[in-house]
Amino acid sequence: MRICIIEDEPVLREQLAAALRHAGHTVDAAADGTEGLYALREYAADLAIVDLGLPGIAGLELIRTARHEGRRLPILILTARDRWQEKVAGLVAGADDYVTKPFQVEEVLARVQALIRRAAGYADPVLRAGPITLDTRTQAVSVEGRAVELTSFEYRMLEYLMLRAGQVVSKGELVDKLYEHDAERDSNTIEVFVGRLRRKLDPEDRFHPIETLRGRGYRLQPEAPAADPARA
Ligand code: CA
Repeated sequence: MRICIIEDEPVLREQLAAALRHAGHTVDAAADGTEGLYALREYAADLAIVDLGLPGIAGLELIRTARHEGRRLPILILTARDRWQEKVAGLVAGADDYVTKPFQVEEVLARVQALIRRAAGYADPVLRAGPITLDTRTQAVSVEGRAVELTSFEYRMLEYLMLRAGQVVSKGELVDKLYEHDAERDSNTIEVFVGRLRRKLDPEDRFHPIETLRGRGYRLQPEAPAADPARA
């Protein structure tokens, strides 16, 4: 998933960015409210982590503006422990959840995962689509019970497609979600990665988990298609 961190303390920002990248997310980081609002407008983030005490545009104002502009992504706020009024104001402004400082990075990661699942309509940390099982807590992937080793990029691609199983996902959307803004964006490389993912998930070419819709994108099958007797 693509996550936007808006936090002015550099050490904290880098720590969160590193932990989220390690957990398989794509991260955009902004050091003040103005840069943060720009990042939210420019990059299609799936979730934002917003410190309320920000220079430039304050966190509360940033959240109100983002919601006013119709941005519906989950927003997790970071607040000072002793300021309960701030938490309430943040939630009223449109945030979805909060973590108080100082925090353990693991707590932020757990809340991020929960918000992403809720936003996608899943309550279960284990995603399933046909024979594929993906555990978002351990990043373990298996097909019909057989463990599949994926690179971090392949994992992120599969998780994204599984959260949108049954829907058409365009190459452009995958580029936006999986590449960071400073990385080279090339939609042709997406084809290569989808091909690799297909071979790892379905080495015997049996159940075709990822459908290609010419000119439109890809669709992960939510259910295993009925076995084709002609291929058996
Ligand atoms: Ca701050």
